[in-house]
Amino acid sequence: MCGIIGISDHPEAAKIAYLGLYALQHRGEEAAGIATFDGKDIHLIKDRGLVFDVFKEEELSSLVGRVAVAHTRYSTTGSSSKKNCQPFLVTHRSRGVAVAHNGNLTNTEELYRKLEEEGSIFQTSMDSEVIVHLLAKAPNGDYKKWFTNVLSQLKGAYSVIFMVQDMLVGARDPQGFRPLVLGRLGEGYILASESCALDLTRAEFVREIEPGEVVLIKGGKLESFFLPGSPSGKRSQCIFENIYFARPDSNIFNDNIYHVRKRLGARLAVESPVPGADLVMPIPDSGVYAALGYAQQTGLPYEIGMVRNHYIGRTFIQPTQFLRDFRVRVKLNPIADVIRGKNVILVEDSIVRGTTSRSRVREVRKAGARSIHLRITCPPIVHPCFYGIDFPSEEELIAYGKTVKEVADFIEVDSLSYLSLEGMLSVMKDGKAFCDACFTGKYPVDVPANKSKYLLEGGVC
Ligand code: SF4
Repeated sequence: MCGIIGISDHPEAAKIAYLGLYALQHRGEEAAGIATFDGKDIHLIKDRGLVFDVFKEEELSSLVGRVAVAHTRYSTTGSSSKKNCQPFLVTHRSRGVAVAHNGNLTNTEELYRKLEEEGSIFQTSMDSEVIVHLLAKAPNGDYKKWFTNVLSQLKGAYSVIFMVQDMLVGARDPQGFRPLVLGRLGEGYILASESCALDLTRAEFVREIEPGEVVLIKGGKLESFFLPGSPSGKRSQCIFENIYFARPDSNIFNDNIYHVRKRLGARLAVESPVPGADLVMPIPDSGVYAALGYAQQTGLPYEIGMVRNHYIGRTFIQPTQFLRDFRVRVKLNPIADVIRGKNVILVEDSIVRGTTSRSRVREVRKAGARSIHLRITCPPIVHPCFYGIDFPSEEELIAYGKTVKEVADFIEVDSLSYLSLEGMLSVMKDGKAFCDACFTGKYPVDVPANKSKYLLEGGVC
């Protein structure tokens, strides 16, 4: 998780970055930051909070320059302090470098140890800081060699944007876990986690950055090269971006997320119909498009039986269980007139710990549903993610070691069905191009040596 943006060669780079961050707010609500370069100095504002809270008009005007890099951050327990906010800024051989990173490295500890032995002093607990230190250590040379040297040492998931003085550098790891798109913005360019940020800034979508590709952008010119071994032809794009995380108005991984989710819902309807059901309703907002696909496939009425209070942040990305529970209760209000006496098919994207789903189901039951049939647009999540999505340890995942019936009993539904792995992959444009390790345990890149420490401290971005 985390959203990143880079702007090159635009007179109002900071303002464009600011607007783009709004489009990427769903990728992280913990902190936001923008750094710009004015031809001489780097300017930086970053803090904890939503984009709206962090930047005020006056401050934004102080971010002068034609180049900007920006970040909106997700964090887990223990890593949400201000010093961990991005972009990170370093001065290297009298050049200012700012970095914004999305994803999680899997060899952080190894690199950390090596760098510490070589004298590096770390300020934060972020794996992104490791990248900065590697940059500082890289031998002098041209930029292509410089970034090849640094990025080749990283393992795991990273979509990353660097601002090196007036040059913008974007890169995606060789497996392409996290998205990164390129757009044209007047004479310049924009890089962003998702294409919805391009729409909001009126940029023209050019293409996605390819797995293992690095782009150097300066003075309206773009140079591209691939890291050694790339393109390998083997992608491991995070399928959870398609299921839940990315915005439905984004085009990433060569597909449109709205349509992907509708296809997931339609396939689920074929695999898991509910005889005697009266209506299909989503758990807002994440289940909305899949429920539409399910309803259209079955011909059942599609009803919005719960209204979301949009003034409360997303629950999934709040760090503590207490906040998660509180926000579930406060944010969704069932419409009893729609639900009362009905056999309801509830469509949701996924179940992680199960407690959020259970709270929602209880609310629907209280509103008078005769029966509740929960349909999930992915298989049971039974393994943690080491590539940047905040799934907890196996023991905390409700589906781990349980039958579907046991999970249904925990969530208090009359029936529960998950979409099959084959069904989920079959509706993707290229099912072989995705990571599905949280369902299968088949990790495409070696997981961290010290798994439990990683899960305890949490993925940071
Ligand atoms: S393990 Fe799951 S959440 Fe993590 S990158 Fe793979 S598909 Fe995405």
